Amino acid sequence: MIWIGGQLVSEGPGGVYGERMIGGYRHWSPKRSKLSALYYLGRGVELEKHHRVLYLGAANGTTVSHVADYVEVVYAVEPAPRPMQDLLVVAQKRRNIIPLMADARTPSQYLPLVEKVDIIYQDVAQPDQVKILLTNAGFLAPDGVMVFMLKPRSVDVTRSPADVAATVEEGLSSGGIHTDGCIWLSPYYPDHAALICTPE
Ligand code: SAM
Repeated sequence: MIWIGGQLVSEGPGGVYGERMIGGYRHWSPKRSKLSALYYLGRGVELEKHHRVLYLGAANGTTVSHVADYVEVVYAVEPAPRPMQDLLVVAQKRRNIIPLMADARTPSQYLPLVEKVDIIYQDVAQPDQVKILLTNAGFLAPDGVMVFMLKPRSVDVTRSPADVAATVEEGLSSGGIHTDGCIWLSPYYPDHAALICTPE
């Protein structure tokens, strides 16, 4: 990852969401992206030029654009029409973002278009987040890794985030996915956690 003066940056065309430029690089703010927050907490997965990424929950392409600055290709899945419009604008300025208007619950919608990937990144904020991740695990190449952004309140607002996280970890384990535990994204995203997952 590229750091300039303690700030995470990426190298690519700016002006995606009004991000600041630092020495010609795009500032990747931990306040605008949970993945950036994970790097600021010292726990992100190193992105490399040869990496292929399946990104579930692309939204309007804020984080996708930074990931695309680092890797070979990003398959960006987003079902909602409004953010997809913005994502298409972002993708027009980059050759390595493949926007897929699809529901990650139904990977058969994009199965013919997506190859095996080195990283699955998921940030969908849905009640069935674990199931969605498990449903997509088949896209992972051997030695691949999944970065799972968990929003406990989307799973169950009546239980504490820590309690939900424990259930999520059990669910992943029963689905054959290993994780070293939750990385809470405070102070950037209180009550959000990241889990770095690998197939067992
Ligand atoms: N990852 C984005 C970023 O950092 O720029 C923010 C993602 S936002 C928290 C969650 C996104 O997941 C929304 O755009 C939503 O439409 C999308 N989403 C919700 N359900 C989904 C599903 N079943 N499959 C794929 N994306 C989904």
